[in-house]
Amino acid sequence: MTASVISAESIPGTGRAAQGAIELRQVSKHYGDVVAVDELDLTVQPGEFVTLLGPSGSGKTTTMMMVAGFEEHTAGTVLIDGRPVDSLPPRDRNLGVVFQNYALFPHMSALENVEFALRMRKVPRPERRQRAEEALGRVGLGKMGGRKPRQLSGGQQQRVALARALVFNPAALLLDEPMAALDKRLREQMQEEIKTLQKGLGISVLFVTHDQDEAMAMSDRIVVMKDGKIVQSGPPEEVYNHPLTDWVASFLGDTNLIPCTIVERNGEEAVVDLGGLGLAKVRDRGASGENYAVSIRPEHLKFKTRASAGNGCAATLVSSTNLGATVRHRLTAGGHELQLRELSSDQGTRILPDEELWVGWDADKAQLLVLES
Ligand code: ADP
Ligand code: MG
Repeated sequence: MTASVISAESIPGTGRAAQGAIELRQVSKHYGDVVAVDELDLTVQPGEFVTLLGPSGSGKTTTMMMVAGFEEHTAGTVLIDGRPVDSLPPRDRNLGVVFQNYALFPHMSALENVEFALRMRKVPRPERRQRAEEALGRVGLGKMGGRKPRQLSGGQQQRVALARALVFNPAALLLDEPMAALDKRLREQMQEEIKTLQKGLGISVLFVTHDQDEAMAMSDRIVVMKDGKIVQSGPPEEVYNHPLTDWVASFLGDTNLIPCTIVERNGEEAVVDLGGLGLAKVRDRGASGENYAVSIRPEHLKFKTRASAGNGCAATLVSSTNLGATVRHRLTAGGHELQLRELSSDQGTRILPDEELWVGWDADKAQLLVLES
């Protein structure tokens, strides 16, 4: 067999058996007085792409390091495909790892760097070479195996790291901010390539980012972390459209937060009093706390005619800013400052300064949440 022939099991879409379930049960990590990860329960299903999203210091890297086996946890259990791995060293956990600071060896060629992962796992030499070449081919670097890392661009180096993580057919991939050092265009390209690879191989991925756009673009499920804990978890649209707290809503993008009092709760729906904005029907996910607000994303606020049905009220335009693809309008309505965002291409009639304005929103786009701050 020539070195460039890709074996059947590595061809995307040929679907090897689903594996790669990762489970954390009540996992904690303390560094002295610092609680980096606090009794975390987390599951990644075989083939699932799960993203840990949170600000710096929220415990994402520590969580990854414990799954990979580079850090020992203080309490709890980590299971891979149902087996506890707490006493296994990293290389016996069958996980491919790309960390931001998990650099390539500078004195080795790209091919030798990829081969190294197989050498560690005692794969015989001839097979090693062939599989390393296949893995480089899979990430589009088939012809660059002879280059040293310094002869490769940042994006190409990250591809080598990805090939090194995939070459031993791991059960799952752990990727900790793997694109953080790349510029925006390259990052978006790599995001798509990683998604394509992941779907083709049917491999599960535990991914870390602090970039909400990246999390939205890549994930089957987003796990939002804060202070070592999970604050919300769900499919991207679900977390974006139905945040449980003002912190989650604001961390995932711009939003209008309107303080409210609850008049009535009926399962998925609630009636709230929005003060100057009157009574409104909103979505309710059952979050409970002391103070409440309604979150409406700026793109879900719409200019309306007074006659149109549904939630809405009179508004005054404060300013309009063209941001290229979108226009951001600042308004006041019922004593609240609101942001409304529309596509530049949708911007219909020009708004005149003295014109009477009306803004509204669909009830299913307004989310009742708990005000933490
Ligand atoms: P993230 O990856 O979300 O930015 P980390 O997991 O790196 O967060 O860090 C979580 C918390 O644990 C932070 O408060 C950080 O300062 C602390 N921490 C991480 N590593 C160490 C360490 N080796 N020693 C002491 N504290 C640490
Ligand atoms: Mg980190």
